[in-house]
Amino acid sequence: MALTEMQIAPTIRLDEASRRRWDVIVIGAGPGGTMAAREVARSGASVLLVDRASFPRPKVCGCCVNGAAIRVLSDVGLSDLPRQLGAKELRAIRLASGGRFANVPLTEGVTLSRERLDAAMLQAAIEAGVQFLDHTQAIVGTETNHARQVILKSVDDERAALSRSIVVAGGLGCRVFAEAEAEDRRVSPSSRVGAGTVLDVAPPQYCAGTIYMACHKHGYVGLVRLEDDRLDVAAALDADAIKHFGGVAKLAAKILTDVKLLVPESFEGATWHGTGRLTQRRVRVAAERCFFIGDAAGYVEPFTGEGIAWALASGRAVAPIVLQGLDDERESTATREWTRQHRRLLAQRARLCRGVSRLLRYPAIVTIAVRLLALAPLLARPVVRSLNASFQTSSTISKQRR
Ligand SMILES: Cc1cc2nc3c(=O)[nH]c(=O)nc-3n(C[C@H](O)[C@H](O)[C@H](O)COP(=O)(O)OP(=O)(O)OC[C@H]3O[C@@H](n4cnc5c(N)ncnc54)[C@H](O)[C@@H]3O)c2cc1C
Repeated sequence: MALTEMQIAPTIRLDEASRRRWDVIVIGAGPGGTMAAREVARSGASVLLVDRASFPRPKVCGCCVNGAAIRVLSDVGLSDLPRQLGAKELRAIRLASGGRFANVPLTEGVTLSRERLDAAMLQAAIEAGVQFLDHTQAIVGTETNHARQVILKSVDDERAALSRSIVVAGGLGCRVFAEAEAEDRRVSPSSRVGAGTVLDVAPPQYCAGTIYMACHKHGYVGLVRLEDDRLDVAAALDADAIKHFGGVAKLAAKILTDVKLLVPESFEGATWHGTGRLTQRRVRVAAERCFFIGDAAGYVEPFTGEGIAWALASGRAVAPIVLQGLDDERESTATREWTRQHRRLLAQRARLCRGVSRLLRYPAIVTIAVRLLALAPLLARPVVRSLNASFQTSSTISKQRR
């Protein structure tokens, strides 16, 4: 299906949405928000999903959906979704550093544009009974009468809605509180920033099924063919180097040139999007009827290609806890439970991701690693395997114990 045919219409008007008292309002319709909204709605609760964008929308992303993400989709009955959208299987990652190359085989994972993935997830949520409001910014207000107020702002209207619980899935560095002091987050001072573009036409040297990853002292750039043959380019770059080299496109081109990868002709004229600081996290992932998931809860760096899996897994895991918190007497237990579950779900993966990101700051070590992997690509197997491994949720842990 062409992207223009994937337009998702809102299912409710802003004035209507503000007249209802919702069980759950979900802020942000990325993979985390759509997963959480769908899972909560499947249990019969009323759910309003709000996004400031309309769908399909672009998103800075390497568009690699790993094995762990695919398994979360399967667990909730969406195993066919990547195939139906034409996702391309990933077979290898070609690492480039200091003029050296290594091809590491991949046995799992697909590449799929975020326009298609996110629009399809949103459609699946709507089919499960979720009400969707686009072009609307949500701001979390005060707590009144066993509910939290959410201000819904479109270009020409502003209304307040009430919800017993709120799932915040607004992505990296999202600001959702009326009072600035409620935005309790830690941002790493040495964090890189994200940037990306999608090229309609690209050199044939970039083959489908391979991730090309250029590693450099100023950051890294990943390139991959999407399901419709466009070339996705996503990068994590040092903010100072972006300034020094005259912009994101120029720095990304320099990195490709330095590692001896081809710079596509349309590179500099393309429309690039950026992100804020990549490495950041919320101090508290749950408080006062609000539950944070996906990038809104925390993110490290994109090299290991896990953010979609983290968002899907946290969206799925938060649903039963949010439902439990709808009972006023169990609201504070739900808050504690999500803090515990979130740590159990992601702390170990975030540690590995931080470790890899730190190593990437040492170009000489990276070049040695690439030389080693060129001789013995299977040395990367344990890392690849653990990135693709299924998430440990409460239910899988109790099944294992039985
Ligand atoms: C350069 C780069 C490359 C990456 N490559 C990969 C990769 O290859 N594989 C992978 O798995 N991950 C990758 N990631 C990470 C991945 O993109 C994210 O982890 C993932 O998108 C997180 O999903 P999410 O649902 O938490 O948030 P998002 O997908 O960011 O969605 C958040 C949504 O919330 C909406 N929103 C925000 N604030 C509000 C508000 N106040 N009111 C209403 N709506 C709001 C936004 O419009 C947006 O639609 C990459 C990230 C970067 C930066």
